[in-house]
Amino acid sequence: MRYTDLAKSGELTVRAQKAVSGLGGCLLCPQACGVDRLKGEKGFCRAGAKARVSSFGPHFGEEAPLVGRGGSGTVFFSYCNLRCVFCQNYDISHLGHGDEMDAGELARIMLSLQARGCQEDGSRTGSDPGGKLGVIVCG
Ligand code: SF4
Repeated sequence: MRYTDLAKSGELTVRAQKAVSGLGGCLLCPQACGVDRLKGEKGFCRAGAKARVSSFGPHFGEEAPLVGRGGSGTVFFSYCNLRCVFCQNYDISHLGHGDEMDAGELARIMLSLQARGCQEDGSRTGSDPGGKLGVIVCG
């Protein structure tokens, strides 16, 4: 089913609310911390209740079918539930460099990338995206 159909039926709101409620006792990834991110508790990934974005823009460093002519519409989300010691994005994945954003700000970023001709959403979480789901859909 398409997003627009889900929005019209109200199902998108229901799913978004479910994703956000998952932050209060977070089991959104296999680390299974159980912390209440809605109350400011931090688990292994250190992510909070809002999405934190390090940078965004058209990205041309992927394979040609993903990049196309307009680039991959990339949003780099901070923090990571793997935290590998050799991570090339240490400042983002471990230190959480970036700015907190709510759902409206994230939506504006994604629409701006679309308007710039990016042909796909290449959002980067640096980790299992499940842990970011709640904050991405409703942050
Ligand atoms: S998303 Fe973060 S807080 Fe939630 S279980 Fe995974 S590592 Fe823990």
